[in-house]
Amino acid sequence: MEDARRALERFWGYDSFRPLQEQSIRTILEGRDSLTVLPTGAGKSICFQVPALCRGHRGREASRERNLAVVVSPLISLMQDQVDALTEKGIPAALVNSLQNESEKRKVADRVRCGQLRLLYLAPERLLSPKTLGFLRQQKCVRYFAIDEAHCVSQWGHDFRPEYQELKTLKQLFPDASVHAFTATASQSVRSDIACQLGLANPCYLVGSFDRPNLTYRMPRAGQKMQQIMDVVQRHRGKSGIIYCLSRRDVDTTTQALRTLGINAKSYHAGMTGPQRKSHQDSFMQDRCDVMVATIAFGMGIDKPDIRFVIHNGMPKSVEHYQQESGRAGRDGLDSECVLLHSPRDFLVWSDVMHGEASQVARDSLQAMFELCNDVTCRHKAIVEYFGQDYGVMRCGACDVCLGELVLHEQSSAIAQSIVACVRDLKQKYGAGHVARVLSGKSDKRVLQFHHDRIKSFGALDEHGLMAIKVWIQQLISQKYLSRSGSYNTLATTAAGRRLLRGQGTPKLTATARNQQSVDGNQS
Ligand code: ADP
Ligand code: ZN
Repeated sequence: MEDARRALERFWGYDSFRPLQEQSIRTILEGRDSLTVLPTGAGKSICFQVPALCRGHRGREASRERNLAVVVSPLISLMQDQVDALTEKGIPAALVNSLQNESEKRKVADRVRCGQLRLLYLAPERLLSPKTLGFLRQQKCVRYFAIDEAHCVSQWGHDFRPEYQELKTLKQLFPDASVHAFTATASQSVRSDIACQLGLANPCYLVGSFDRPNLTYRMPRAGQKMQQIMDVVQRHRGKSGIIYCLSRRDVDTTTQALRTLGINAKSYHAGMTGPQRKSHQDSFMQDRCDVMVATIAFGMGIDKPDIRFVIHNGMPKSVEHYQQESGRAGRDGLDSECVLLHSPRDFLVWSDVMHGEASQVARDSLQAMFELCNDVTCRHKAIVEYFGQDYGVMRCGACDVCLGELVLHEQSSAIAQSIVACVRDLKQKYGAGHVARVLSGKSDKRVLQFHHDRIKSFGALDEHGLMAIKVWIQQLISQKYLSRSGSYNTLATTAAGRRLLRGQGTPKLTATARNQQSVDGNQS
């Protein structure tokens, strides 16, 4: 371990390890398979880079011959960034990819052959090609494999890649090498599936905390979006920030609007040329522009420590995405702000995109994202619990809910009573969609077929709109006035819900965008 600490200081200039880095490095030095789960930005790369510079505890023969770490990563650009950074530090690292010509590839092979290379980055399909496998086995040089983004191996993960599944053969083909998986996805089921899919032998599990206490989360409903965005940008005037948009068009219009308002903003999306993207990225990284307006194409491998805010101009499609993108703020540990502007329409747009082909995992993820931004629950708590961890703090002091900033509907109690009464009147046999249609007075086929246009609740909340009612139903579920159960997700009243009908309890329902604007209007 002394070796490792010295390498960290000498090559990176850091004086101490972050949580779990030391433990993760130790499993590599000891040659024990492991799975390390750390959120984005926590420093996973160091865990598999540092040991490549240390001698392992593996007997004389092994420590002399096997000194190569093979890093498997799905993203070429990310690999290139890491190899560039390592090379700059004087660490012998290289990658092989399809963009290289034969002579470049041969050069890398030569460095492997003469034992000069310490880290070799490969995409899974390249590593698994018979030629590469044959070469590496013949050289007997691989000490360990590091599998980055290891959730890609699991069909239960949010980013399954079939080519990752073949990685299982590594354990058989390289019995003397250990395999170490790294991911930022922490659900218990995906975790054990990764270990199983990779055939890890009695692995050591290291799971870090998913809370980012220096981030303040705010998730207001989208209203006057440009105004909402400008408020955040002004709070951090002259500092670095990212604004994520759902479409290229949104990126362009938002960038334009910001520039008109005198903000030094640049855009980034897949529709731009390579050199254009590179130039915008460089000016952001080098602080020549303050605000990067981008689609999610921007950010993989972006390692800027002093990003003070991340705004989402629209709801991402999963909590994993949100955690990853918002997690780019405040990597230096200083206070930073993450603002998510969302509207129920975002949910419908994503549902449409997913129509038909998306897996259940993707749908569940989308639903969880919808609940995260619509629930009246501490955001830190909700995120941490989503990733399967406990959150002990009562009031985080760093989210819009705990800070009491959320605009609640003045008639929360009356509205909640109408909704719970409707669920009761429908004999607890229907799902949220149907309940919302009845309350909003939509006489569609199913409503007419069951004569639900004749019950008292029909149209009781017609002035609020279908989506607003669906959001409130969600909020009542999370506040335990309603419950959802069975394979049809039917709604039922809880004991608290029945007490609510007798006038007890204080349900919290958020104001709709319409209602919120009139509140804002009254103040100014
Ligand atoms: P991840 O892969 O988990 O998303 P990275 O490996 O990209 O995270 O690391 C995020 C940032 O944290 C990088 O800038 C990295 O240099 C920095 N970092 C990692 N470990 C340490 C440490 N022990 N001390 C200080 N900074 C660190
Ligand atoms: Zn909170």
